[in-house]
Amino acid sequence: MGLHLFNTLTRRIERFEPMAPESRKVGMYCCGPTVHDYAHIGNFRTFVLSDVVRRYLSFRGYEPHHVMNITDVEDKIIARVGETGSTLSAYTRQYEEAFLNDLKELGCLMPHDMPRATEHMEAIIALIQQLVDRKLAYAAADGSVYFSIARYQEAGCCYGQLQKLDFDQMRPGQRVQSDEYAKDAIADFALWKARTPADGEVFWSSPWGEGRPGWHVECSAMSMQYLGSSFDLHLGGEDLKFPHHEDEIAQSEGAGVQEPGKRFVRHWIHGAHLQVEGKKMSKSLGNYYTLRDLLDQGFDGRCVRFVLLSAHYRESFNFTIDGLKGARTALGRIDECVSRLAKLAANAEASDLENQSELTKGFTSAMDDDLNVSAAWAAVFDWVRETNRQIDQASLTAQQAATEHQAWLAVDQVLGLGAGKDSEEEDIPQAIQTMAQQRQEARNNRDWAEADRLRDALKEQGWRIEDTPDGPRPRRIQDI
Ligand code: AMP
Ligand code: ZN
Repeated sequence: MGLHLFNTLTRRIERFEPMAPESRKVGMYCCGPTVHDYAHIGNFRTFVLSDVVRRYLSFRGYEPHHVMNITDVEDKIIARVGETGSTLSAYTRQYEEAFLNDLKELGCLMPHDMPRATEHMEAIIALIQQLVDRKLAYAAADGSVYFSIARYQEAGCCYGQLQKLDFDQMRPGQRVQSDEYAKDAIADFALWKARTPADGEVFWSSPWGEGRPGWHVECSAMSMQYLGSSFDLHLGGEDLKFPHHEDEIAQSEGAGVQEPGKRFVRHWIHGAHLQVEGKKMSKSLGNYYTLRDLLDQGFDGRCVRFVLLSAHYRESFNFTIDGLKGARTALGRIDECVSRLAKLAANAEASDLENQSELTKGFTSAMDDDLNVSAAWAAVFDWVRETNRQIDQASLTAQQAATEHQAWLAVDQVLGLGAGKDSEEEDIPQAIQTMAQQRQEARNNRDWAEADRLRDALKEQGWRIEDTPDGPRPRRIQDI
């Protein structure tokens, strides 16, 4: 059937066709983090989605080129730089590093390019200049430059492609300069923001004076620099549809750099939000968890990844700690089955029939259908049940086991769970190791009450202590 994806631009599920089918190359851009603070796991739902899209494209024989920008200059960042007395780069690099560590912990592949906005000023200014030259942008008296929606529409272009817009109701987006009086029309958005005293030392020179770019134009300039003026896939969370992505289209297509008949982006993918008790997880509501919050509670990155991948990307769902515990149990089942399979396969060679495995077939047809992960998980867990049954009945030969194991490894190239590692090699989170050590110390001190308390606390987190020849060792409880 081939890969089918919902396209926000057409509001339809479409067969995915890359622009250059003969080379199988696919350009994909995902709006990256604004590095003003630690990202929360809601943000990571969107980044894990991008990772799975990229991995699934590879699984289907494409060659994705994955670009994710780093927004390292923006209003909140500038405010924090001012408050902390830090420099822009010192301030943003710490959060960029934390973000990339979290991305790794969540089993995401590093994007092929991660351009920082501050290092692409030339391309950004050049794009603004093109828009000014084409009379789609104008400089205000203070040296800010705005994109004119009215002139864009007069040129025959459509503003409001990703989402139907009510122009009467339109209020300026959050990330535009608060000084609205400089603009011709309320809907116009800033491409360049003139320097103000509050910006401190954060500014660049431009033909319009000192200042800094607007957020939207950064993404247009960087995506086109790395992927060309027309590319295949653009991703982000659903909150970015408007104004951010709409403005990216207006700027990129307004610059008139595409070949005739070609769009800026062929296919737009938007991920639904991760919620907490029915509300979007967000910094402003304070209802968020960072990855480190969850690691400190003894969970690991793969549990969080599993949860983030548990629902269809176009459906929002509630994050709960119980959901994480459920993920741990589910992963334990997969791990156990895959390591049984690996032992049985021993050194047997897989046949080249792995594509015939029920796992591969079920997984591929589910994911081809607009990345239907619920059906994909059903295929995985049916396979786990059936494989365990066959192993119990000794009805699987070593070669069949090797083939099924191979099929799992291929599917896991997409899921990115690294499941099936021998539990001996399992990474034990630092918090769990510390608790296990404290329990041992309590036992050495004959403080049985404290030792029991720590044992129960470990159990609560899904771990038990097993005596091994090398001393006590935490082991994951497979079925809680
Ligand atoms: P930001 O760093 O605020 O620019 O956000 C980075 C990405 O996270 C964007 O693609 C947002 O759409 C996305 N995002 C923010 N909150 C959530 C959430 N609760 N669930 C899923 N994605 C989110
Ligand atoms: Zn963007």
